[in-house]
Amino acid sequence: MLPVRGRDGRTTGPARILGTRTAWTPVGDGQFFCPGCGGDRNYQRLTGRRRFTLLGVPVLPRGTTGPVVECAACRHHYGTDVLDHPTTTRFSAMLRDAVHTVALAVLAAGGTCARTSLEAAAVAVRAAGFEDATEEQLGALVDALAADTGRVFEQPGGASLAIELHEALEPLAPHLAPAGRESLLLQAARIALADGPYTNAEREALGTVGAALTICADDVSRLLAAARTPS
Ligand SMILES: [Zn+2]
Repeated sequence: MLPVRGRDGRTTGPARILGTRTAWTPVGDGQFFCPGCGGDRNYQRLTGRRRFTLLGVPVLPRGTTGPVVECAACRHHYGTDVLDHPTTTRFSAMLRDAVHTVALAVLAAGGTCARTSLEAAAVAVRAAGFEDATEEQLGALVDALAADTGRVFEQPGGASLAIELHEALEPLAPHLAPAGRESLLLQAARIALADGPYTNAEREALGTVGAALTICADDVSRLLAAARTPS
């Protein structure tokens, strides 16, 4: 092939003679976590129509391509699986809700809530992002749960809180590092221990938390024992 002279007189390679060009059309938008520039960004979802070009001029359709996700900040393109990863904002909300649900489950399993348990739970829930959470609010929620379902983990109605735990934890678990999953279980264990040794119902609730976080049974036992040892 002959080299082509560019407009500025530079010699350009033969790739410029023939090529493909893609025209992108937006088909949706939203927010995502951009792995390229590392943060929550707006994106456009694009589908492309490829055209075969001769000397830079589109001459023949070459079918469709995509869809891809384009970051509004860095303009990089990604496969749509990048949308499976939650945004930082969404991830924080998932974690906050998970800590709240776990705290309620452990308190409810403990039956009548001791002040020390409510305090331990309120500290964990506030640290997770519900800054206004109080012992009274948590106590009222646990009373409401008990009135609604009976003793939460000891009766058939107790299945509902187990379902809540799975719904709050399972979508979160794949996005947490193992240390993050263990730390969530340890927080729950410390709430359970705030009023004395684990009861059977508390162990059961913590076992459900561990399973929903995809922590294996051996590790759950190890972590529950470790939580008992004052650090
Ligand atoms: Zn980006």
